[in-house]
Amino acid sequence: MICQGGCDTVRGRNEPNFFISVDIARNKTIEAGLQEFIAGNIINDYMCETCDKKVDIESRNYIDQLPNVLILHLKRFAFNFDTLRNEKINSRVEFPPTLNVLPYHIDNTKEGEEHNLEEYDYELVGIVVHSGTADGGHYYSYIRHRLPDGSLDPEKWFEFNDSSIKVYNSSNIESDCFGKSEQSLEDATASWYKTVSVDNRKNAYCLFYERKIKSDIRLVIEGSGEEEKCEMRSFKDHQKFVPDNVFHEVLKSNEKYMFEKHMYAEEYFKYLIDLFGNATY
Ligand SMILES: [Zn+2]
Repeated sequence: MICQGGCDTVRGRNEPNFFISVDIARNKTIEAGLQEFIAGNIINDYMCETCDKKVDIESRNYIDQLPNVLILHLKRFAFNFDTLRNEKINSRVEFPPTLNVLPYHIDNTKEGEEHNLEEYDYELVGIVVHSGTADGGHYYSYIRHRLPDGSLDPEKWFEFNDSSIKVYNSSNIESDCFGKSEQSLEDATASWYKTVSVDNRKNAYCLFYERKIKSDIRLVIEGSGEEEKCEMRSFKDHQKFVPDNVFHEVLKSNEKYMFEKHMYAEEYFKYLIDLFGNATY
């Protein structure tokens, strides 16, 4: 926040976020959406203690800490105050296979600093697609394959759609995920009575970008007083840091869950009734 009242004081605070919501109503690319995310907006009647009066301030957002996985959420659902309905924005939004986030990072505002561009590089590793309307629809995912050493497969992707998992040709991402419709926000407001074809209603809803150079993560096991810092070269690295007792506790609780799930399943009761019903004494 930058005071516009004359003192130019810059105030900042960190807000933890699990994802960035990207406005797509007016933006045709993710980069334009992120640009809008960092663009300033003016807040009136802010009490500036330096100026000692109510002033306008300019508020801006920047990325501060670089996450190992950057989740971008596309704001495809919006409430329309004219129709008083939730509506889906089906317009086309392009996104790149690699994304450099320096333009949206706080470091970019620091003048005269040299940046190692690779530090800000991200690769697309997953896409959640929504197909349908604001009232109902279906979600499925495209996920990039990982090699046994944990690194990303240069080519191979999979489609995860309910119980169906199949190899996916990533050259189809544009046609399957960007969105086909040229529909603008204005058209979207009319979409409740216009028939939009199913094909025009499927488009990316969440994007998962993985950082090329991973930062270390801290593993804290609550209550145990144990804390490990592990170097992240890939996401497989943290496995060896999970303490044995935690590993066994999770394993045991998963086993219990599976046991109970089968024990109380309708199929199991049916099976028992069949079994005993057919039994001869
Ligand atoms: Zn001020």
